[in-house]
Amino acid sequence: MSDNSLLQQLIDALKCLPGVGIKTAQRMAFHLLERDRQGARILADRLYEALDRIGHCKRCRTFTEHEICRICSDVRRDSSLLCIVESPSDVLAIDTNAEYRGLYFVLMGRLSPLDGIGPEQLGLTELEARLDEGEITELILATNTTVEGEVTAHVLAEMAHKRGIQTTRLAQGVPMGGELEYLDGSTLSHAFSERRQY
Ligand code: ZN
Repeated sequence: MSDNSLLQQLIDALKCLPGVGIKTAQRMAFHLLERDRQGARILADRLYEALDRIGHCKRCRTFTEHEICRICSDVRRDSSLLCIVESPSDVLAIDTNAEYRGLYFVLMGRLSPLDGIGPEQLGLTELEARLDEGEITELILATNTTVEGEVTAHVLAEMAHKRGIQTTRLAQGVPMGGELEYLDGSTLSHAFSERRQY
């Protein structure tokens, strides 16, 4: 007979976390129930609130609970530079490690026709409108160096070149097939500051 107790349901739910299998999920569930019910309650509240209130920035598509995110609304940032990344975690990695004070645009994915991810899903129409505003002079292509990330960078570069906007790509140091969020800070910082014409 299958176990549909609340405990088992909690364990099953914890398995949705990346890298968490059955053993780890069991350990987490027992830890929360045995030793940290207070922490568990805070975690539950934060999860609930985050899911309820966090949406996407109208300008750059990153996660925020505001209409326009903290970075887009910061007037001290250089609005002539736009860095294109695949995910909100890339924004965090670059902003923490690289000396970059321009703006971002988050694709929330990469071109992948087989998975049904085309220009529309990546907000490329919004991005084109943004480029047409005329303020951006450099588009920094910081998509991952996977095959799909490279194809995406190529399409973005064409959009920029059509409008006479220069494009750059992060320098070597980002290994082929590499994802930005797994790079150590100094490698990312170097790759960013040594970005090359694309
Ligand atoms: Zn934003």
